[in-house]
Amino acid sequence: MRNNKGASEDNMGTINQERKLEYLLNLDIEKVSNPQEIIKALREEIEKHNYYYYIKDNPIISDAQYDRLMRNLEALEKKYPELITDDSPTQRIGAPIEGGFATVQHSEKMLSLQDAFSYEELKDFINRVYKELGKSEGGPGSGKNPATVEFVCELKIDGSAVSLVYENGKFVRGATRGDGVFGEDITANLKTINSIPLRLFSKNGLKIPPRLDVRGEVYLGKDEFKRINKEREKEGLPPFANPRNAAAGSLRQIDPANTARRRLNIFVYGAVNSMVPFISGQFELLKYLSEIGFRVNPNIKKVASFDGIIDYLELWRDERKNLPYETDGVVIKVDNFEYQRILGQTSKSPRWAIAYKFPPEEEVTKILDIEVNVGRTGVLTPVAILQPVRVAGSTISRATLHNEDEIKRKGVMIGDWVVVRKAGDVIPEIVKVIEERRDGTQKEFKMPDRCPACGSKVVRLEGEVAVRCTSIACPAQQYEKIIHFASKGAMDIEGLGPAVVSKLLEKKLISDPADIYYLKYEDIIKLENFKDKSTRNLLKAIEESKNRPLSRLLFALGIKYVGSHTAEVLSKEFPTLDSLMNASYEEIEKIREIGPKIAESIVNFFRQEQNLKVIEKLRKAGVNFGSELKEVTEKEGFVGKTFVITGKLNSFSREEATDLIESFGGRVTSSVSRNTDIVIVGENPGSKLDDARKFGIKTITEEEFKRMIEE
Ligand code: NAD
Repeated sequence: MRNNKGASEDNMGTINQERKLEYLLNLDIEKVSNPQEIIKALREEIEKHNYYYYIKDNPIISDAQYDRLMRNLEALEKKYPELITDDSPTQRIGAPIEGGFATVQHSEKMLSLQDAFSYEELKDFINRVYKELGKSEGGPGSGKNPATVEFVCELKIDGSAVSLVYENGKFVRGATRGDGVFGEDITANLKTINSIPLRLFSKNGLKIPPRLDVRGEVYLGKDEFKRINKEREKEGLPPFANPRNAAAGSLRQIDPANTARRRLNIFVYGAVNSMVPFISGQFELLKYLSEIGFRVNPNIKKVASFDGIIDYLELWRDERKNLPYETDGVVIKVDNFEYQRILGQTSKSPRWAIAYKFPPEEEVTKILDIEVNVGRTGVLTPVAILQPVRVAGSTISRATLHNEDEIKRKGVMIGDWVVVRKAGDVIPEIVKVIEERRDGTQKEFKMPDRCPACGSKVVRLEGEVAVRCTSIACPAQQYEKIIHFASKGAMDIEGLGPAVVSKLLEKKLISDPADIYYLKYEDIIKLENFKDKSTRNLLKAIEESKNRPLSRLLFALGIKYVGSHTAEVLSKEFPTLDSLMNASYEEIEKIREIGPKIAESIVNFFRQEQNLKVIEKLRKAGVNFGSELKEVTEKEGFVGKTFVITGKLNSFSREEATDLIESFGGRVTSSVSRNTDIVIVGENPGSKLDDARKFGIKTITEEEFKRMIEE
């Protein structure tokens, strides 16, 4: 049995955790009155996230939030230096090592990097370098000027740092960065990465030192990262939040065979300088490393001014999106090793390098609710309403959840904390749920069984993941539906294109396709760009469309899977719309070329009450629904001819006259056009007679019509 009391106490604990985090993230340093207590809380919080990030490879807050906590701690420690301790996260690198691998001591400390989030911070760094070296900025071509400083710009690869030790050119040991002093021995795993040379080449007389400790970044390509996460989701494992954690996780597999299955790669970006005394700077070092067999990122540049650095940043801010691997910033390093030595390092990072970080493309936020949108095609899409958060330079407050299956696969609940991602201009998406932050208040989401826009029952067609509203009258879909209805292959209403449809909808003159047939002269003339002639033309085109064959109408209705060919097939089997509407699934399905998917979709369509209402409106407007197949006895004078009747006939009703004409192979339409062959003129003829005269069309009286029949 569930212990409610226990659960609620637990929940309180977690809720307090959330509040504490919120408080520490939004700290106002100037107002802190109990620095000792806050510093302690910040350190505990950061240690907790170091553990999730470095040991579990599964962060529960975003990097930007982590960086904010760290900056708050740094600011407080700066204000109260007496409170700094050796074990503060500001003084240490990474997280303590966990069991599983042998521990090794690095030949020289593996450092982190200080970071800059703005050009101002970068400028401060550059000025500090000039000041401490007593040098100044150089212009273009000032490289050889000893009074200036050169910098090497490199892409910051988003992966996991490793040390690779070579003895006499042979790879002998590889390790993780660990806490900077001690790392984990992952030699066996690193040997599975093909781009790590097991032996170095010493061609062209290049020197290979007896011992060489190379530093690099092991990473996963974007595609491979996606592949691994898909695989993990299939296995019911939580996906990795980002390629960096995925690379770190892959490197720290106890069984090297597991590492080998992930296509890891490496870029090498440095070496312990004292081991290569014959090299004088970073740029030369990278060139050398590449020549002796290491994989070095080719996108490196030496510059001698702040502007040069900015040019590089501006270029790669967008260009990096086209790279097959993730980069989260640019590392700017003082080139000259002698200058590097003068500048030195802190306990955590070198004072001759800085990492400029691009705005994060990932954030962590809360799902406040899940809304359901109806798209123009009737597909219902669940959308997460997020606590607004800044990602990739803009604030996002919604993210698509695609469909019901996706929600299930990702295990998303309302109230969850989630990782959201926005790469470039792509719509933000939810990468993963942070289950560790659930506190029992989360609610399951259920897809509605009625369309939120029109209330009709929604359907999920066989073999489809999407749930859709199939109502032809659904307001959310009208624009697309009406444009399709009036389009060339459908009812072919000339002049009723997208611009006119959207104006008619905007002015609420129509709300479904059948409303087109009830438009009046006064409605159309008041639309922008409509004059008398264009209004008449549109009305005429609408009128003419009533006579389109049944197959066109079937296609125009926009029944899912009923394209123009299928509509043609159906109209041959079902001569009237009513006969198709009354047909059973089995009757439809047995027709050649009609499969179960189409049959199901048709039956569903004609079950929708709203669709039936629209169909009735079409019928009332006089749209051709096809007619029962009649015996036709072809009669000269009638075959292939188009008739129009105007005025009252004494011996026949309109229907009788129409039936007769059709039984002799002719056709009756309701308005006169150039295609009309004969107009039958009864008593009190209307404007159709004028039209007939205008077009020079043959007119006959009722008597003449009778004679034609009797002949
Ligand atoms: P870092 O990632 O900011 O920078 C240092 C690392 O950059 C180096 O160790 C190296 O591995 C890498 N690098 C990539 N390309 C390089 C190049 N060309 N030259 C030199 N180095 C290069 O610092 P860090 O100490 O590794 O990690 C700290 C960061 O990790 C934080 O700022 C935060 O973003 C993230 N973090 C997040 C959480 C969390 O809970 N979300 C927790 C801990 C750390």
